[in-house]
Amino acid sequence: MEPFVYQPLPTRVLFGRGAVTRIKDEAERLGVKRALVLSTPGRGEALAKQVSGLLGERSAGIHAGAVMHTPVEATERALLAVKDKAADAVIAVGGGSTTGLSKAIALRTDLPQIVLPTTYAGSEVTPILGETQSGVKTTQKSARVLPEVVIYDVDLTMDLPASIVATSGMNAIAHAVEALYAKDGNPITSLMAEEGIAALARALPRIVEGPAEVEPRSDALYGAWLCGHCLGMVGMALHHKLCHVLGGAFDLPHAQTHSVLLPHSAAYNLPAAPEAMARASRALGAGEVPKALFDLAGRLGAKRSLREIGMLEDGIERVVETTMAAPYWNPRPLDPAAIRSLLVRAWRGEPPQSGD
Ligand code: NAD
Repeated sequence: MEPFVYQPLPTRVLFGRGAVTRIKDEAERLGVKRALVLSTPGRGEALAKQVSGLLGERSAGIHAGAVMHTPVEATERALLAVKDKAADAVIAVGGGSTTGLSKAIALRTDLPQIVLPTTYAGSEVTPILGETQSGVKTTQKSARVLPEVVIYDVDLTMDLPASIVATSGMNAIAHAVEALYAKDGNPITSLMAEEGIAALARALPRIVEGPAEVEPRSDALYGAWLCGHCLGMVGMALHHKLCHVLGGAFDLPHAQTHSVLLPHSAAYNLPAAPEAMARASRALGAGEVPKALFDLAGRLGAKRSLREIGMLEDGIERVVETTMAAPYWNPRPLDPAAIRSLLVRAWRGEPPQSGD
């Protein structure tokens, strides 16, 4: 066996149906007296009201101002709310956008965070924060942004629409696929990656077919945790780089971008990462990984082209240039012509072509 380093992250995780009712105890455990509950507007706000109610006198109120890709302006507005309400902690109830806001606040204030994820983005168990300013998304790693406590309660995810289940689930799978060929990978993270992909690949179609069933939603949440853990532990590669560039430059929806691109980035790396792909294939219960991922996205009813999610074709060149200007390590060396061709196929919604 190759030598490796494994450094576990100290987040406390509570998993289980009804676990949200333990929120007040967890706040007390952290010594929190006035927590500001964060969410996105709309459905997210209803969940935030539920959590705020459970917190009772330990709630400082709700700030429903989270925005996708964590724009700095949204963080500045939230910091005013933190100050105004004299909050001594933040509690994020929602998807990666809400968690992102919580982390951005923690980075600037060092306030403790409790996160209750309602999508499969996985941000809640990573020390990573991506922020957007003037159309550029930059990512940093800091122990300050890692949440102290994460509560996974399937009940908070029961209303997650099938369309978001599909793309958010593909987003989670993307973390695990890239973890399997990560430069700094290790056997423990790879175990989690394989288990995470398998749990999601089994659960996602069942959720889309029977949205009211609890068990597959619980399995998907478990898979999402494992995949998020992989993202937090090891470095990501070309796939995540392309998604960050696309999200920052064109404000494309995060999970949908991952979902469209994953089969194509897997195809790009297929020849360079045979062992990782064999494990991913086993977890997916299907043959060649790029095709299996493309078929899974189709089965889940997810959009499979960048065109359909709002990207203009003339943006492709900018993505290639930005990717090449500050590349991530990748198992297959970055070749601008091959990346361009990958993006053209993804833009058109064509099936992935291995070794493009
Ligand atoms: P999101 O948080 O924007 O949620 C997507 C939509 O789903 C929103 O409209 C939200 O209101 C809705 N929603 C969420 N939970 C719901 C529920 N239970 N019921 C009904 N509707 C619900 O999207 P996301 O894909 O979860 O997160 C994307 C963001 O997270 C991006 O900004 C991305 O960069 C970031 N992210 C960061 C990391 C990290 O480690 N730093 C990891 C993954 C994602």
